[in-house]
Amino acid sequence: MRQKFIAGNWKLWGTLDQAKALVSALTPALKSSKNRFLVAPPYTALSAVKELTKGTSLLVGAQDCSNLETGARTGEISVPMLKELGVDVVILGHSERRQFHGETDKLVNEKIKLVLKHGLEVIYCNGETLAEREAGKAAEVVIRQTKEAFAGISEADLKKITIAYEPVWAIGTGKTATPQDANEIHQVIRQTVKELYSKAAADAMIIQYGGSVKPENVKDLMAMPDIDGALVGGASLKADTFLPICLFDQ
Ligand code: PEP
Repeated sequence: MRQKFIAGNWKLWGTLDQAKALVSALTPALKSSKNRFLVAPPYTALSAVKELTKGTSLLVGAQDCSNLETGARTGEISVPMLKELGVDVVILGHSERRQFHGETDKLVNEKIKLVLKHGLEVIYCNGETLAEREAGKAAEVVIRQTKEAFAGISEADLKKITIAYEPVWAIGTGKTATPQDANEIHQVIRQTVKELYSKAAADAMIIQYGGSVKPENVKDLMAMPDIDGALVGGASLKADTFLPICLFDQ
């Protein structure tokens, strides 16, 4: 049985006061669950959130990192800087990074390798746009993205990678893929991991679904055999909506 992994991506939200209040509401409530949990605040709140999560089961993630360890990249944050703060996981390849910052799978691949080199975990995001889905290309897109992103990554390293399937048309739009549609693409991704590595690697791979996950739809999504968790945006910003998602099985 794969452990369910629920992650909250705060995006451009979270002053220090907001971050501290939310994390303080989450940690006691999550204590007794067997699921795995993560919050990904903005860089400016990472240190404070890490401090508050010490001794708890809540993991702390960054939303991105530079593909370089150091150098002339004004405004960027490196993996060693994140590691110094105690960050556990880095989210890479989010569709907003691809859409607004021109990130390619080649760049995402470089970032994955750098994060793994420093011993941190990765949540790697992929997913098709609305135009690609309407053209019947959803499966083709995630196969291509997964192959490019995992180039040169060893099977041993896969233990540190979670995949988040996030159809771009479902992110922040209120439109969720049906559990069946999502599961179908999760199967395609799992099959791709099997072809690239092995059945054991594919069976062990945690594949989250992301795209307008809410307390109302989480149970049906999590009931699907190939959906192993969720990457949650909007609904992760309030304990009132994030906790029922995290604790969907209680
Ligand atoms: C996301 O940011 O990864 C996401 C899935 O957002 P939302 O839940 O708001 O659709």
